[in-house]
Amino acid sequence: MSCYICGQPATSQEHAPARCFFPKGEVKGKLTKVDSCTEHNEETSKDDEYVRNIIAMTIGNNGIALSHFLQSCLKSFIKSPKLLSVTTKVRKQVYVQEKDQKEIKPTYAFQIDRQRIDLVMRKIAYATYFKKYGTSWNRELAIGTEYLLNKEMTPDDFGLLIKSAKSELESPTFEGTNQEVFKFSFQQAESDDTNDQVLIMKFYEGFEVWVFAQADTTGPKL
Ligand SMILES: [Zn+2]
Repeated sequence: MSCYICGQPATSQEHAPARCFFPKGEVKGKLTKVDSCTEHNEETSKDDEYVRNIIAMTIGNNGIALSHFLQSCLKSFIKSPKLLSVTTKVRKQVYVQEKDQKEIKPTYAFQIDRQRIDLVMRKIAYATYFKKYGTSWNRELAIGTEYLLNKEMTPDDFGLLIKSAKSELESPTFEGTNQEVFKFSFQQAESDDTNDQVLIMKFYEGFEVWVFAQADTTGPKL
């Protein structure tokens, strides 16, 4: 057994996504685990909790995200006021139009720690690949999402790329054992090398993250 990131002998198993993404009690046997060394097992990582909270707070997720937010995220904010202040640093009111609705609603934008989010997403992506193909994903990964906006309140470059790719792509077939919380779909690029894929990950049926394998790189690299 070797670690999904570094290939060193595995000493434990890491959940991907971390256990804190799932509502309590409903997930027995449904969590995906990969072998990991001590260094790459961060079961209790504050990063996971931070990212889970950001996703659950993002508009447009399903009911699980909402009740999970009310139960677990609020609890984690109450236990750790610092986490709340870190998560919601610099609030600014913005207006959004939800899908299929005419109404434009006010909401709040939060300044987020994008590096922290990308790190958690890369780990989930590497674990998802390892689980599916039985080997490490031998590429550096770039993370993109159209849901997190930059200071000008527009998606970043990857977000724009995703928007245009989406209009070309037929609805992808997703895999996953608990798809209301997390599901994924690998999209094969022109090359036959499974390392050169785009991985679409979807959280709570609303928050989509695209993972781009970087050409001519080797990995895993967190
Ligand atoms: Zn390792």
